[in-house]
Amino acid sequence: MADAMNVGVNLEAFSQAINAIQALRSSVTRVFDSLKDGMKNKETLEGREKVFITEFQDNLQSVNRDLNELERLSTLVGRPSESHPLHNSGLLSLDPVQDKTPLYSQLLQAYKWSNKLQYHAGLASSLLNQQSLKRSANQMGASAKRRPKVQPSTLVLPPQYVDDVISRIGRMFPDMSIELFRPNGTSAVLLVTLGKVLKAIVVMRSLFIDRTIVRGFSENVYSEDGKVTDHATTALLHYQLPQMPDVVVRSFMTWLRSYIKLFQTPCQRCGKFLQEGLPPTWRDFRTLEAFHDTCRQ
Ligand SMILES: [Zn+2]
Repeated sequence: MADAMNVGVNLEAFSQAINAIQALRSSVTRVFDSLKDGMKNKETLEGREKVFITEFQDNLQSVNRDLNELERLSTLVGRPSESHPLHNSGLLSLDPVQDKTPLYSQLLQAYKWSNKLQYHAGLASSLLNQQSLKRSANQMGASAKRRPKVQPSTLVLPPQYVDDVISRIGRMFPDMSIELFRPNGTSAVLLVTLGKVLKAIVVMRSLFIDRTIVRGFSENVYSEDGKVTDHATTALLHYQLPQMPDVVVRSFMTWLRSYIKLFQTPCQRCGKFLQEGLPPTWRDFRTLEAFHDTCRQ
């Protein structure tokens, strides 16, 4: 509101004008006070009238003086700009029943949020563009035609390439068997068997891991409530590197492999093997250390 009034108004003159109004009001009050009090007691009637009239004239003159001063200042104040920053909706700020209909403040708030939203959307958009998974035609524009193709888009990697990456990872971990199926067209599904501890189904979308389900090999104490599946899903979110999907698959498999000692590794915090009948089902994403789900914080 103060900002809005700033436009086209001389605030200095404005405060002087308010003072002038106060002065005018008190001089007018003095006029009526003297009229109300009437003539003061003097020796003679003539003396009383003379004093009364002189006082009355003085008071009227000061009213006149204060009025002139106010008129002078009112020309300096200027008029509020017609072009309000919020255009016509700015006139809502002049609504005298602000408390009942706080439209103007709500409007300002909405504008503020809208600006913020736009700003953050811009940031998000530029971040997402940096990590774009697909190269859309209009994004690259005409310059893409001249640019040599560096590598095929990760979304349409040839199945042979995916097979190679998976079999390479399989050779890295001899204690983990990875079988690859393509039950529905080109997308691969991996059946990962980790010793006698667990089996995992990993659904791929090209070389990206789309989903994973982890089940216990024979016992299902730890998988019944889906703990390891939950952790594995969290791991998928953790290992994100859109430009290097093969590194992501390898990191995920390395992490999954750390479950091979699920029943032989004590919790790194409490030192116990079992807590409430559950082995330490959490594996740190960086160090691969084992923790109970409740001990990991
Ligand atoms: Zn523990």
